[in-house]
Amino acid sequence: MKQIAIRKKFSYFYTDSSEIESGAFEDRLEELDDEMRALCKKYDVEMSGGYTTFFGLEKYAIGNCEKCGHLMLNRDKNPAGFSGNELAAELDYVIYDGGESEGKVLCEECLPFTHRWGHHS
Ligand SMILES: [Zn+2]
Repeated sequence: MKQIAIRKKFSYFYTDSSEIESGAFEDRLEELDDEMRALCKKYDVEMSGGYTTFFGLEKYAIGNCEKCGHLMLNRDKNPAGFSGNELAAELDYVIYDGGESEGKVLCEECLPFTHRWGHHS
């Protein structure tokens, strides 16, 4: 039985409003896509579709875990998370939940289990 396998890969980069408005990173991303397309071809994989979405770091309290570096939402500062954003379900494994513990901002994996946003809470 023939099937098609569709994969999703996420990536991210930090930018700011002036770079977004000027489109300064567009050429860099087009170059990256060209290289990725060529690499996919090498493995008989077609790269199709993709988009870039911007999230305000302060608005959503997005940052990197101070222990492991994983991308995370500081849910102590943003209890609502991505509520109302249609991408939210896809971002669960890209951007972890997290919070603050003993003066550090930690992702759900690094927070103590007893913390409100800890992995097993
Ligand atoms: Zn972590």
